[in-house]
Order: sequence, then C-alpha cells, then structure tokens
Amino acid sequence: MQDQNKNPNKRPPVRRVVICGGGTAGWMVAAGIAKVLGKRLDIKLIESDEIGTVGVGEATIPTLMNFHNLLEINEQEFMAETQATFKLGISFEEWRNVKENYIHSFGFTGTDHWTAGFQHFWHKGVERGLAGDYGDYCLELKASLEHRFAHLPNNGMNYAYHLDASRYAKYLRRLSEPRGVQRIEGKIVRYTKHEEGNMRGDVRSIVLESGQEIEGDLFIDCTGFRGLLIGDAMEETMEDWSQWLFCDRAIAVQTEAVADAVPLTRSMAHQAGWQWRIPLQHRVGNGIVYSSRYLDDDTAQKQLLRNVEGRTLITPRVIKFKPCQRRQTWKGNVVAIGLSSGFLEPIESTSIHLIQRSVVRLMQMFPTTGGISQSDIDEYNAQCNSEINHIRDFIILHYHVNNRTDSQFWIDCREMSIPASLQHRIDLFRETGRVFRVPNELFAENSWIQVMLGQGIMPASHHQAADLMGDEELKHFLGNIKASVDRTVVQLPTHEAYVRRYCGRPESVKAA
Ligand SMILES: Cc1cc2nc3c(=O)[nH]c(=O)nc-3n(C[C@H](O)[C@H](O)[C@H](O)COP(=O)(O)OP(=O)(O)OC[C@H]3O[C@@H](n4cnc5c(N)ncnc54)[C@H](O)[C@@H]3O)c2cc1C
Repeated sequence: MQDQNKNPNKRPPVRRVVICGGGTAGWMVAAGIAKVLGKRLDIKLIESDEIGTVGVGEATIPTLMNFHNLLEINEQEFMAETQATFKLGISFEEWRNVKENYIHSFGFTGTDHWTAGFQHFWHKGVERGLAGDYGDYCLELKASLEHRFAHLPNNGMNYAYHLDASRYAKYLRRLSEPRGVQRIEGKIVRYTKHEEGNMRGDVRSIVLESGQEIEGDLFIDCTGFRGLLIGDAMEETMEDWSQWLFCDRAIAVQTEAVADAVPLTRSMAHQAGWQWRIPLQHRVGNGIVYSSRYLDDDTAQKQLLRNVEGRTLITPRVIKFKPCQRRQTWKGNVVAIGLSSGFLEPIESTSIHLIQRSVVRLMQMFPTTGGISQSDIDEYNAQCNSEINHIRDFIILHYHVNNRTDSQFWIDCREMSIPASLQHRIDLFRETGRVFRVPNELFAENSWIQVMLGQGIMPASHHQAADLMGDEELKHFLGNIKASVDRTVVQLPTHEAYVRRYCGRPESVKAA
C-alpha cells in the first residue's frame, strides 16, 4: 500500500488560508474559520477600502441564529452593534394582484396531523365557512401585523434580523482579529498560479497594488460580483437563470427613520419589479429591484424615491447583477463564497443564509491533513447546487404565479415556462393541497404554502383525514388555535419598545 504522505498526486495540507474580500461574506468566512481553526491556521483577509463593499444585504432569515450560536455571539451585543431589529417575515404587497397583500412569516401555522398538514383542515374549514385567513393561525404572522415582538419560552417565536451590513462586517472583524485573522488593506491587482506539480493550475499567490505578494494553500474568493479568483483565475462559468428571473438591477438608498421600526421586511411590487423597505434602529434601508428590459434607471429611481419615507441619507446608486450561479463554487484551491459564487435576487433574503451555509459546509469539509481532496470538492459542489436549485424554484414561484394584468413585466412572468421541478410542486399543491420538503432544502412546507396561497393558488381538494372531523369539532379545533394565537399576541409588547429596551442605543433615537 502506498504511503499517503508520499502520494505525488496529493496536495499538501492546508496551513495558509487567504480570504480575498472583506464584505459580509469575507468577514463571515473569517469569523467561522477563525473560531474553529484559528489556532492552527495562518488566516489572512485582504480588503480594499477604495473598492468598498456592495453596501446592501440587510434582511436575514432565522438560520443566521445557528451561525451566531456556533460563533457564540451574544445577541444583545450583536443587535446593539449592528443597530438591528427583529424580523418575523416578509410582507408581500401587490405581488398577487394590485391591492392584494400577504405575509410570508417565519412561524408555523396551525397544527399538523401526521398524515396531513394543517392546510388540509383549514381548507375544509374554508369550504364550510368555518375558517378565517390562513394567517390567523400563525403567531409570528399575527404578531408582525400588530408590530409586536418578544422572546418567548422554548423558542416560541421564530425570528430573524434586519441589520446594518457595514456595521455587521465591522462587528465580525472585531470578533475575528483576536482569534487570529490578519487583515491586510490593499487592492489585489494580479494572481499567480502553480505551473507544475500536483497543484498545477491552482492559485499560488495574489499580488497587491503595493507589490506585496501573499501566498496561500486555500483561497476563499469573497470579492463580490467581481469574482476575481473563481472567475478570472479559475475560469469557472456561470449558469444563467435570467430566462426565469427577469430582474437584473437594483437602486438602493438609505433614509432617516421617521416611524417605529416594524418586525417585517416590506416587499412592494412595482410595475417591473419590487421595492424593499428594511427598518433598522437608526435608519431605514430602501431599494428597488427591477428588470432593465422593462424599466430604465431614471424611471426606476423616481418610482423608488416616490415611495420612501424620511430624508434620504445617501445618493441612490444603481447596482447591476445577473441572476446566475457558478457551476462549481469550489474549484482547485479556490472556494467562492458570497456574491462571487452567484446571486439570484434578494426577495427572500437568502444570500446571507447561503454564505453561512457555505461557511459551515466548508468547515465540515475542511481539507483533512491529507490536503485538498477532489471528493470533498465534488461533495461540496453537489450540496451547494442542490440547495440553490430549490431556492431558485421558490423565488421563481413569487413572480410566475400572479394575476396582475397592469404591466407587461407581470404578464410575461406569468406566461414564461418554468422549471419542471417547480411546475410539479405547483400542480401537486393545486390539485391536492400537498407540499413535501425535499432533503437539504431551505424552505419548509409552511413557507411554500404561505407563498402559494398568497400568490393565489387555492388547492382543489384536501386530505380525507380532514373529513373525519365533523363541523363542530373542526370549528373548535380551528377556533382554539386562533384564540391561543390572539391571546399571546395581545400580551406582547410593541416591537419598538422591546428593541429599545433589549438592545437600543442612544443613537437610535429617531429624527424629529
Ligand atoms: C440589491 C441587493 C440587495 C440585497 N439584499 C439582501 C438581503 O436583504 N439579504 C441578504 O441576505 N442578501 C442580500 N443581498 C446580497 C448581499 O448583499 C450579499 O450576499 C452580501 O453583502 C455579501 O456580499 P459579498 O461580501 O460577497 O460582496 P461585497 O460586499 O461586494 O464585498 C466584496 C469585497 O471584496 C473586496 N474586493 C473586491 N475586489 C477587490 C480587489 N481587487 N482587491 C481587494 N479587495 C477587493 C471589496 O473591497 C469588498 O471588501 C443583496 C444584494 C443586492 C445586490
């Protein structure tokens, strides 16, 4: 048997990790690697103040909490530092049709039976005139509508955060540097590659404008849309999804906070896209996401500014993107994390989630003492691809299933052909009310149900288990759930008061 250490095809063990880029992705990677292997590795992070970060990405989903738990982050400290607020879901306004709104909340709705989800019992209740809105049976949804929030025992309230992205990166930097991350300021202008040996084709070093050369064994490309290493050096291509996702531009602007912060991201549909409003403690993040095929930048900017509250704090800026994903996000000794790996669009706040999933996945598959192995790379890429495909389908669903007739954009979204995997999910729900979560999938059944109902798909039938309940029993069953939700909601403090007490800072005082 051949001694592994003498195997000429093996790469050497990874000792030097070079993180290129210091946006949300760069610092999340740095924090994750430093927490686990900071004592063992030489970790460098290169960022350029001159280039800056994308400066958006402020709404998250509940999974961020898992990452924070791994990093042993104190929630109150993190929220104060990043001027964060709580988020219970997303308010989709006029997506299904003009003047029709719904909420995709982070909670559970009703109580499932093992054979049939709650939606089957609710469906029967609707048929018999015994049920209210589907959302009446979800605590988080009702609390968000009333702008209320509190931590409840046994994680009884599912939530995420709205946070200030640039403060978040600074906060993670403060955690990472004492754990061994060395930050280097500078602009990467070139890279060199191994010309021979078993690392042939891998990146050997990056070179800064100052002339400083930094060598590494593993490079994490967090250079944002530029994708300096994964794209330029490794020539990894993108799978383009613009046949399903038409939006390719955004304009972002921050405004003064002039009203109480609500525990919801607002997503307001427009003529050719949608607008976000993200309330933080000290300001509000706003932006419009649109398709340049249907709307020019000037008109988009006017539409955005017509619909913001409070004085603008920065000059609005256009961000161009393409809905796409690298075919492989780990290639050779380069792993792309963050916008360098691809970007769908921000409607369900999935990008920061994907960053933390990639960090956790990388830590789980961190090269062994035997060096980088192709089987780790293949497994990592397969897991990333499967995860992103489900998210892609979920996002397309929001656009495709709509009843809007007021603009060509929405009509074209409705009439486009969609991935077979999504068509199957829609058909299944439409005919039977059933939804199944696929292994390794981010969005659970209740997310799919809320969005499918919200966008206007009402199932044609329900599971026969629901028919075993007589009308009186069903009325009680539904009524008890609703009453319990209502009882809890009225006891909650307002979100604004809770945040101020829990993690508020004097600087969060509103502008008059
Ligand atoms: C319009 C829009 C809205 C979004 N909203 C959300 C949201 O609500 N929720 C969410 O989860 N995600 C959102 N995202 C995605 C989110 O912004 C990103 O996932 C997140 O900010 C991570 O970005 P990044 O770190 O990959 O890239 P960037 O922030 O662009 O950082 C790139 C880093 O690389 C450095 N760099 C680049 N080139 C060089 C070079 N040559 N030399 C040295 N350094 C270099 C830069 O200085 C910077 O530090 C949104 C994205 C867009 C476009």
